[in-house]
Amino acid sequence: MNALPYVILFLIPAATSAALAAYGWPRRTSESRPFSLLMGAVALWSICHALSVASPTFEGTLFWAQVQYAGIVLVGPLWLLFALAYANRWELATRTRQIVLLAPSALAFVAVLTNSWHRLWWPSVLPDTSRDFMSLAVTRGPLFWLHATYSYGCVLFGMGLFVYTMIESRLIYRNQARLVVLGGLFPLVGNIALLMGLRLRYIDDPTPFLFVGSGLVMFYAARHYHLLDLAPVAQREIFEGMPDGVVVLDRRGVVAAVNTAAARLLAIEPGAWVGQAARNLANSSPLAGALGNLLEAPAAGAPTATITATYTGHDGQRVVEARLRPLAAGQRERAGAMLLLRDVTEQARLAQQLDRRLGELTLLNEIARAANAAAQTGDLLRTITGEIIRAMAWDRVVIGILQPDDSTLRIVVDESPHEIEQSEGNDVSAADFGLIFEIMRTGETCVLNAADPALSGTTTLATMRRLDLQTGLVAPLYQRGAALGVLLVGHTAAQAIAPEDLRLYETVGKLIGDAITRARLYEAANEASALKSAFLATISHELRTPLTSIIGYADMLEGGIFGQLPEAAIEPLDHVRRSGQALLRMINDILDFSKMEAGHFNVDLYPVDLATVIRGVAGALLPQIRQRELGLALDLAPDLPLVQANSTRLEQVVTNLLANAIKFTDAGSISVRAEVHGDRVRISVEDTGIGIAPEEVRQLFQPFHQIDNQITRRYGGSGLGLAISRRLIDLMHGTIGVESAPGAGSTFYCELRVAAHSSLMEIAVS
Ligand code: ADP
Repeated sequence: MNALPYVILFLIPAATSAALAAYGWPRRTSESRPFSLLMGAVALWSICHALSVASPTFEGTLFWAQVQYAGIVLVGPLWLLFALAYANRWELATRTRQIVLLAPSALAFVAVLTNSWHRLWWPSVLPDTSRDFMSLAVTRGPLFWLHATYSYGCVLFGMGLFVYTMIESRLIYRNQARLVVLGGLFPLVGNIALLMGLRLRYIDDPTPFLFVGSGLVMFYAARHYHLLDLAPVAQREIFEGMPDGVVVLDRRGVVAAVNTAAARLLAIEPGAWVGQAARNLANSSPLAGALGNLLEAPAAGAPTATITATYTGHDGQRVVEARLRPLAAGQRERAGAMLLLRDVTEQARLAQQLDRRLGELTLLNEIARAANAAAQTGDLLRTITGEIIRAMAWDRVVIGILQPDDSTLRIVVDESPHEIEQSEGNDVSAADFGLIFEIMRTGETCVLNAADPALSGTTTLATMRRLDLQTGLVAPLYQRGAALGVLLVGHTAAQAIAPEDLRLYETVGKLIGDAITRARLYEAANEASALKSAFLATISHELRTPLTSIIGYADMLEGGIFGQLPEAAIEPLDHVRRSGQALLRMINDILDFSKMEAGHFNVDLYPVDLATVIRGVAGALLPQIRQRELGLALDLAPDLPLVQANSTRLEQVVTNLLANAIKFTDAGSISVRAEVHGDRVRISVEDTGIGIAPEEVRQLFQPFHQIDNQITRRYGGSGLGLAISRRLIDLMHGTIGVESAPGAGSTFYCELRVAAHSSLMEIAVS
């Protein structure tokens, strides 16, 4: 008898099941414990069986055959516990129930050991020498069958649970569950066959082999589908029910689980990914590129990396946010990673919509600004088309303006970001572009599409081709209800035009229409103003020559050049001279103003001694001050710096202000002050006169503006003095203003810059 090969044969299931037990034990999940114990029991069984085979004596064989029951009796209940854990029903296996479940096994083991006393397990046990090793020929007693029933009951119940789980579980677990059921069938079918009388030549008890076969299938399931690893990171139902996609990767980057949401978001077959390296698999998803980058990220040490990727799936464009979060097993150890996927299509759509609205508002705002800023229609339209191209990425923006004959449209702007064949200046008639004239007539913004069958063979299509446009949008332009022209925007490639664009360009069209109306009015007003200025300049010039000679002759008459004048003529002649001078001043003002309006008025600036200017003006106007019995105080700060100005023109301003103060003050005094304010010098003329109402102040510096009161009626004046003064001060880079209240007098002031050379000494030196 050579038992050795048989001993070795039984050591194979012993070693295999021991290895499987060791594999499951450290995983410490609810499934792994019962699985390890089950495999441990099978290992014990197999080892004892190997020893019983190795024993050459009947007693030895019997002893080990009895001890092997320590393992056998545990297999049924442990199988059931494993099935409970796998079916996620571990909460049913309370400690008491575990004891109750294992108690019959303990009793059965005692019964086996004490068989020689009661013979209820094996009524007869005889040596069986028909094989190459010592084995037992037994008859089975009632206790054996009782235990067998119990044990197979447990196994069957467990199988039921496995089958139930297989049917219940979601797609990704179904393969795993199928394997587990298959594993369970091994010992079940084998043992039923054995009990029904199957006898094998070489193996007296194949059960350990069957359980090891089952264990190996489970081991494959464990390796491939992470049977023993998954919980508690992702308990099945929670995991499956999550609205976000989750892919669990083990520490080698192999996919351990994929939930349905993840499979949907990745547009993949869920089962296909499990057990494969995520990095290789990423390629089969439309998110390949983005995922590839993300899966690289953990190596770079980033704790949680996030990317957002867009792809077009069968149900339209999808935006997915993917986040890779490392999973820690212990303090430092990394168990793997979790790839979280969230469908952010809706958020992205809202953000896009918001961006679009913002873009539209910005465009409208820019157009409105351009419309206000541009002085000429041409500039205006070009600025607007530029804005449209910049904001909305059109390939071509064309504006056509209806010509006075109402039957042709002149293309006034034709802009494109690309090289194009310009059509500016071309005329388009109804015969060339019928649809456009129709749009102008109906006033409805409309989309043009070269592929539209309704356009085939029309002149409109021909014109679109000439303009190299596949799709376009036409908005009519109106001026006070009358057609003015059209705005045409388009793409050179067939591109969908959003329905919101119709509304937007209708508004743009209205804005352009209003802007053109305003620019045309402005142009007309400017033209009229230029005509007026030219007229005033000519008239003033023509008036000045005879007036100068009137004053000159009056002076000469007064000076006695033409002989002594009779006493009675002296006063009227003085009137002639004074009135002549007043008129000349007024004409000079008008002439200055006309030049300023026409932009032909320039002043040279140089350092000016302000005190000298003020004293000169005060001296010249002193007779009038005396005549009106007013007081005059000059308060000029010592060491006043020179100001950057033009002395003649500054004199003119100070004269205006002082003359007005005299004119509008009946009693009291006038003070003229000059003081330094930072880098400026402030000149103020203060009077105790009638003052000015706040609502008048705003208009005071407008040309030809006079406040209607007794004094202005009495003294006349052109209403140009302050307007000219303001422009002169502007030209000297200074400011002018007034503080006043009715009855409380007025203070007119102006501020001028201190000159670079702030004293006469410096000028002399330089
Ligand atoms: P005018 O040549 O008519 O004086 P101005 O431009 O110099 O024209 O002045 C415009 C108007 O401002 C005057 O008609 C007057 O009503 C008001 N005004 C100017 N200076 C004073 C002042 N010092 N006090 C009150 N009103 C003043």
